[in-house]
Amino acid sequence: MECSRCSSEFENVHIDGEDYSICKSCELMVLKKNQLNRLMNESDAEVSSIREYNADQSDPVKCPVCSSRMKRINFLGFSGIMIEHCESCGAFLVDNAEITQMHELVRLVDEGKHTVTEVRAYDLLMRISRLAYSIFSS
Ligand SMILES: [Zn+2]
Ligand SMILES: [Zn+2]
Repeated sequence: MECSRCSSEFENVHIDGEDYSICKSCELMVLKKNQLNRLMNESDAEVSSIREYNADQSDPVKCPVCSSRMKRINFLGFSGIMIEHCESCGAFLVDNAEITQMHELVRLVDEGKHTVTEVRAYDLLMRISRLAYSIFSS
């Protein structure tokens, strides 16, 4: 499988009993539908909370899993973090900048500077943020 952004080969990283595909050159992580579902089940989040689309569809990225054109979505609606989503196979692409934004949001909530209205969605964000951290810091 080839990276959508830099054409390097994805590498597999084994974490918590799952194999995740990552690109080490541009620090991009693929979150497949079943992997996201697992994280969503753990946090009891709703699928609807990740379905807020941005109107800007310029320069679409090709899905590394199924080659469909990906859409940029506002992750979890409230986060303001825009990530690529494939409607055909349900995969997500999360890059280093977006992971940093997730960490930042988690930090703001920890410090009480940001109020969480959707607790489950925030829990999901925190799980993805932690997962991405353990992948790229290893
Ligand atoms: Zn790459
Ligand atoms: Zn796809």
